[in-house]
Amino acid sequence: MTGFKEFAQACRTIENIPGSLDMTEQVAQLLQDVNCDELPVVTHFIMGEVFPAWSAEELGIGTSLLYAALSKAAGISIKEIESLVRDTGDIGQTATKALKSKGHDTLSSFIGETPQLTILEVFERFKKISKVSGKRSQTNKIRNLRYLFDSSSPEEAGYIARLAIEDLRIGVGEGIVRDAISKAFEVPVSDVERAFMLTNDMGLVAVTARRGGADEVTKLNIELKRPIKMMLAQVTPTIESAISEMETAAIEWKFDGARVQIHKDGDNITLFSRRLEDVTRSLPDIVSAVKEHVKADSAILDGEAFAVDEEGRPRAFQEILKRFRRKYDVETTAREIPLTLRLFDLVYLNGENLLDKPLTERRAALLGCVENTGSIKVDEQILTSDTEEVNRIYNEALEAGHEGIMIKNPQSPYSPGKRGKNWLKKKPLMETLDLVVIGAEWGYGRRTNFMGSFNLACHDPDTGRFLPIGKVGTGINDEQLAELTETFSNLIVIESGMEIELKPEVVFEIAFEEIQKSTNYDSGFALRFPRLVNVRDDKSPDEADTLQRIESIYSAQRK
Ligand code: AMP
Repeated sequence: MTGFKEFAQACRTIENIPGSLDMTEQVAQLLQDVNCDELPVVTHFIMGEVFPAWSAEELGIGTSLLYAALSKAAGISIKEIESLVRDTGDIGQTATKALKSKGHDTLSSFIGETPQLTILEVFERFKKISKVSGKRSQTNKIRNLRYLFDSSSPEEAGYIARLAIEDLRIGVGEGIVRDAISKAFEVPVSDVERAFMLTNDMGLVAVTARRGGADEVTKLNIELKRPIKMMLAQVTPTIESAISEMETAAIEWKFDGARVQIHKDGDNITLFSRRLEDVTRSLPDIVSAVKEHVKADSAILDGEAFAVDEEGRPRAFQEILKRFRRKYDVETTAREIPLTLRLFDLVYLNGENLLDKPLTERRAALLGCVENTGSIKVDEQILTSDTEEVNRIYNEALEAGHEGIMIKNPQSPYSPGKRGKNWLKKKPLMETLDLVVIGAEWGYGRRTNFMGSFNLACHDPDTGRFLPIGKVGTGINDEQLAELTETFSNLIVIESGMEIELKPEVVFEIAFEEIQKSTNYDSGFALRFPRLVNVRDDKSPDEADTLQRIESIYSAQRK
């Protein structure tokens, strides 16, 4: 059994390493040192997650709950905890300092033989917290979290606090863990990468690599009910450039809806949103349409669900989200906001993984197993190299109220999680940007108790950082502002005066007039007249627009 103390020490060492090669070395060492039961837990912990990204399990620990547990464990007031957070700028250091002030250090060295908290105990406790529900759930969660703080040294408490909000801040991401697994268990990086793509679970890949080496890792495969990441699309500036690159392209409408990944296992249907959340219970109409009209023993299908009005035209995106978020009274909302499903891909059929097959073959298989009806259909696709024809389809899609078109490479495999050149999207020029909210400011006057403006950032995939690019305060009505304030209250990291730092979790779709160069923001750019169009609940922060995209819109503007 490995103590959580050893994990905390490893984190501290890794945190202080500047280069990724040495970091990989240390992570590999840690993965080798722990036992098989601990390995999946440690693999997730080291990336700052408690459960795999696809899992339905959620901790549900917000900052207020965390502060309450810390305040109880350290015997100081919540106000004092908040002031420590302001001073240190970090919840981990806050926890360490708070517990030191209580004398945990001397206590643990004094009672030398006190049983140490093990890695698995910490995990089990987090698991317990994720299962807590009902009336007294807050109190219950605080009690369990406090137990962890009470049983740990100040340094361990720091990492427990960071894990509790799933932000370990030691700079270890998927890339480093992938390389570390490869190094620790002598499995080629490409095999680890592929196994991760298929299973979406680094913990599972690590254990398999340790137990069976490359032989077993290469046997890992897609499994029903464990979602795979969705294949993504890149923007193409013009239809002409896309077509000249692909020669013959597969053209489909880009429907204005929300992505669904459908797993069919006999009569058992599971639906996942773009963020890989299980949304089966919210969408009973889709479940029954799939049960009735998809003729396969088992399948994983990819498609877009959109809400329709009486004429079959797409309704606002917010209406779809109402359906996806609904947890109770689901049938009534389903009647009020009926959904239509358009299927465009098939990645698994009757036990066979189709990822590497070309799009044309996957599509033929899809057509072979779906009975088209009004509410569920395989989307129409035209293979062409004629730009005039593509323009015609584009205009038809826009006239029908949809977003534009997808231009796909007919020979391409399905690449989970990749935003490559095999799927291009063309929408009208007034592009919007999807940006992460990283901070806010309390409002003035009428908006005193609400957050009044929000700080936005783009994503830099190279460093994993979010780079500030501006603020938005317009386009938000009072009702929305109240809702947003409530959402963001659980994501506050630090508050200082009117300024709030927020955990980067929420993505805003922002319209703007122009992108300008600016030295005011770390991205090097600023937005002219930004306006909130939508809250993109279906997108995760690392799917926000990248610095690269902002640079390319900026240069397109100048042309
Ligand atoms: P975006 O959200 O702007 O990155 O555009 C990509 C999204 O378009 C996908 O994630 C799908 O949700 C959606 N979409 C709509 N129609 C299609 C289609 N025919 N093929 C692929 N994606 C589509």
